[in-house]
Amino acid sequence: MRTTYMLGNWKMNQGMQDVMSFCEELNLAWNNLPKKALCGIAPQALHLPALKTNLPKDLMVGAQNCSEHLQGAFTGEISPAAIKDFGADFTLVGHSERRQLFHEQDRLLNTKAKLALGCDLKVVFCIGETLEEREGGSTEAVLRHQLVEGLKGISTTPKLIIAYEPVWAIGTGKTATPEMAEETHAFVRQVLAELGHDAASTSILYGGSVKPDNVQGLLACPNIDGGLVGGASLKAKDFLALCHAANNA
Ligand code: PEP
Repeated sequence: MRTTYMLGNWKMNQGMQDVMSFCEELNLAWNNLPKKALCGIAPQALHLPALKTNLPKDLMVGAQNCSEHLQGAFTGEISPAAIKDFGADFTLVGHSERRQLFHEQDRLLNTKAKLALGCDLKVVFCIGETLEEREGGSTEAVLRHQLVEGLKGISTTPKLIIAYEPVWAIGTGKTATPEMAEETHAFVRQVLAELGHDAASTSILYGGSVKPDNVQGLLACPNIDGGLVGGASLKAKDFLALCHAANNA
């Protein structure tokens, strides 16, 4: 009933040579994979054309961020309209690195999400609590706030995908246990329903040190509909293993 996704977030990694080797290796194995899940990569924006040209056509490509404006004097920004025109399938919005390092706040992220959805892009809206917030017992309040503010004025749509990424698990090698992640995903789904979204049909991805050797336990959870993966998506062999797991989930 829900689409399973396996999405790679390459952040500011990979040179052109790495991109081309990744595509070569992936192409060799891709046809042998069953195709149930939707898989995709969000590279640095300048590498989107190389991925679009060289990856198997049924792999999605996406942006890691987009502007909150459609056009104008915003030097260095990328319009969601341009991302769509280019032929990308999705954009991330609100990754914790955008929230923490670039101080992107709920209102801005809400504008970005609305604009990108209006451009007919899938939006992977990222939420997650810090270690301090988890230890202080405010995980649910934080996630509720991020969802309420971030999704304000956004009606239910299959283009909206949520990624729950506990900040303490991103790039740290610490993963939430499947039980912990499942409990939080169930909570996120409940909040989506309260906000009037078709929660039962909304894919909620888990992110935070997902790797080939822990992905199966996570994907076996009823409320986990795939992964948003940083480090382990950089090597074609690992990404293929993750896609394989998603196709078999
Ligand atoms: C991410 O960047 O969204 C992420 C989850 O990174 P990692 O898999 O490396 O923890």
